[in-house]
Amino acid sequence: MNNKLMMAITIVILIAVVLFGVVSQRQEENEKHNLEEYENTAMMLDTVNTIRTYGPGGEEAVQQTFSRLEEIEALLDLYDAESSLNRINENAGGEAVEIEPELLAVLEMAKEFAAENEGSFDPTIGALTLLWGWGSEEGPSVPAQEDIEQALELVDYNKLEISGDEQTARLAEEGMILDLGAIAKGYAGDEAVEVLLENGIERAFVNLGGNIVLLGTKPDETPWRIGIQNPRSDRGRAMGSVDIGEEDLIAGQIAVATSGDYERYFEDNDTRYHHIIDPETGYPAEGGAVSTTVVSENPSRIDALSTGLFVLGLERGLELAESLEGVEAVFITEEKDVYLTSGMDDKFQLMDDDFTVVN
Ligand code: AMP
Ligand code: MG
Repeated sequence: MNNKLMMAITIVILIAVVLFGVVSQRQEENEKHNLEEYENTAMMLDTVNTIRTYGPGGEEAVQQTFSRLEEIEALLDLYDAESSLNRINENAGGEAVEIEPELLAVLEMAKEFAAENEGSFDPTIGALTLLWGWGSEEGPSVPAQEDIEQALELVDYNKLEISGDEQTARLAEEGMILDLGAIAKGYAGDEAVEVLLENGIERAFVNLGGNIVLLGTKPDETPWRIGIQNPRSDRGRAMGSVDIGEEDLIAGQIAVATSGDYERYFEDNDTRYHHIIDPETGYPAEGGAVSTTVVSENPSRIDALSTGLFVLGLERGLELAESLEGVEAVFITEEKDVYLTSGMDDKFQLMDDDFTVVN
């Protein structure tokens, strides 16, 4: 064979290899973009839960996830008389109660997060939650000052005694009540992702009552765009968004949680009373923020943080958020001013020019 022919054959082969590479890459991308989508919604944990999966097996995976959420509800729900949590509450001031390892683990986390939040998130807030009438048949109302003072005595996460050896928990004083409402949805989100992963799902959007966990990237590789609700719009319109690209994922996932005074509230004499209680005063927190959004890796932690930062308020909350590594936050005030932690700059997009990004 002469040299020219050799050269020609080599070139043809090279072109074929490159073309094949391009075509198969295209095919792969097409398959990725056209991943089968499945979405379902269920009411649980006193809220609306939506899960969307990309890829095969979504329906079965989501069914299993909802079953898992039911188990979590049976463990943690303050408003279910039969829940394991309420066995601890019923025995407050008395004997330590043997509990499931899962509940024990959640309580340990809750105590850790209470310390991280300087007590502004406190899982023993229950005496106050119930005093204000949240979850009651009559609905919420403003309690008497002396009742608030009494209930305040019953809120202290240091008086939640947990024994890993004995597998027990105990509230030290009669009348103390555990309320995990500020962390349950985050924990459930964490577990939901576990179940999805076990079922081979690699990309999903999980929204448990505003506590969002993103698994993997979106199939079309555009960033996930998580709307932040306008806290003063009845229609729940977004005032901005947090955009999450592949570089923002930590170990393949990320969580976004918002706490706001618009989620549950009532009005009395032109005053708005919302559901996030300051454990120092016994009244709805008034720290200057009407909405706090937190972005970080651990869904349970940021659920606690979104509530805790709300209570700490604009100044102390921003300071704490800034000091925590890998945690970013958005604070919105009544005046429609928006405050961001330093790492949030490139993630937050303002969509409503009634609002002003201050820093
Ligand atoms: P979130 O929507 O995550 O901010 O949680 C609010 C829920 O947590 C309320 O409905 C109460 O059940 C509970 N809660 C209210 N105030 C506090 C607090 N300071 N610490 C812990 N839980 C709280
Ligand atoms: Mg929370």
